[in-house]
Amino acid sequence: MIKANAYGHGLNQIARYAWKDLGVKNFGVASLGEAVELRKSLPSMRARIMVFSDTGLRWPETRSLYLDYNIEPVVSSFEDLEFFLEDEEFSHVPLNLKVDTGMHRLGFETQDAEKICKALKRRRRFKINHLMTHFSSSFIRLKNGDRTFRQYDAFLAFKKDLRSQGVEIEESSCANSGALEQGISLEESHIRPGLMLYGPASVADKDGKTLWRGKNISSLKTNVIKVFPVKKGTPIGYGAHVCHQDGVIVYAPVGYGDGILTSYSKASFMVEGFETRVLGRVNMDLTALWFGEEAAGKFKAGQSLRLWDHDADSVRKLAHSAKTIPYQIFTAVSSRIPRSYIP
Ligand SMILES: *Cc1c(COP(=O)(O)O)cnc(C)c1O
Repeated sequence: MIKANAYGHGLNQIARYAWKDLGVKNFGVASLGEAVELRKSLPSMRARIMVFSDTGLRWPETRSLYLDYNIEPVVSSFEDLEFFLEDEEFSHVPLNLKVDTGMHRLGFETQDAEKICKALKRRRRFKINHLMTHFSSSFIRLKNGDRTFRQYDAFLAFKKDLRSQGVEIEESSCANSGALEQGISLEESHIRPGLMLYGPASVADKDGKTLWRGKNISSLKTNVIKVFPVKKGTPIGYGAHVCHQDGVIVYAPVGYGDGILTSYSKASFMVEGFETRVLGRVNMDLTALWFGEEAAGKFKAGQSLRLWDHDADSVRKLAHSAKTIPYQIFTAVSSRIPRSYIP
C-alpha cells in the first residue's frame, strides 16, 4: 500500500524501489490521481496498480484514465459496478471487488452476493479477479470471537457464497499490517501491508511491546538554530507560554508548515538520546523543544537534530504522547522537507 505519497515517504521513489529491488508486483493507492501520477513517472513499471477509494468511475473523463494508463479500480458499490460493467472497453479490465464485513466504510454488503452474481452474469462476466475486505480493528490484540475474527468469518462465507453461484474468484486479500502481525487471513492469496513497510508496528501491549520489530525507513532531520538555558516561569514564544521547569530550550527551524503538527504541543519523546517536550505553540517554521538540565551543554547551534530516527519506537512514542498515530506523523511531513534517499 503506497497511498498518501507512500505514507509520506514519496510515491514514486518508494514504488520504484519496491518494484525494482523487492519485486513487488501489485500496488494499492487511494485515488485515481495517485495512480496516474505513478504511471506517468514510472512508465516502464510492469506492476498492477489498484485504486481503492476515490475511483472516479462515475465520470467518463476520469473513467477513461483506467484504460489509458492500465490502472484497475477496486469496485465497492453497485453504482461503480454498473459504470464498470456497462462500459464495453472495461471488459478486459480485471474486476476487483471489496466487501464490507463489518467496518461500515466502503464495500458491498455480504447479503448482496446474489445480486452481484446476477449483475456479473448479465454482462457475461464469471470471474472476480481479486476479492477483498478491510479489517476495522486488527490493531487490537486478537481474542477468540472478536470483531476481526467475525469479519474474517464473514469474508470466508461471502467468498463461498459467490463461488457456489458459479463466480470464479482468482485472488483474495484481507490482511493489513495489524492482521499480518497477528497472523490472521494469511491463507488468502495476497496481503496488503501498509504501515509496517515503513517501520512502526500496529499492535502493542500495554507496556509498548510490539510483535512487529521493524525499523523506520525514514528519519526526520533538522538542525539546531538556537540554544539557551531557561528558568521556570520564563515566557516563551507566541502567547508567552510560561516555561514549566528549569532546563534548556532548543529551537528547530521546522513547524506546522513542514508538517510538525500543532497537536505536538506538550508532547514528550526522545530526541538524540534525551527526553524532550514541545514547549508552547508550534509555529509555522519554528518549534521550541524543552530539555531537562541533564541536556545542558549537549546541544549547540548548527548541529543536526533528528525528531525521529530509524528506531520504530521513536515515532510510536511521539504518536502516543501527541495522541495521534504514526500514519499521521508520516503523512503530515510537507513538501517543504526535502526527501533524500540513501541507497
Ligand atoms: C491503507 C490500507 C491498507 C494498509 O493498512 P495498514 O494499516 O497501513 O497496514 C490495507 N488495505 C486497505 C484497503 C487500505 O486502505
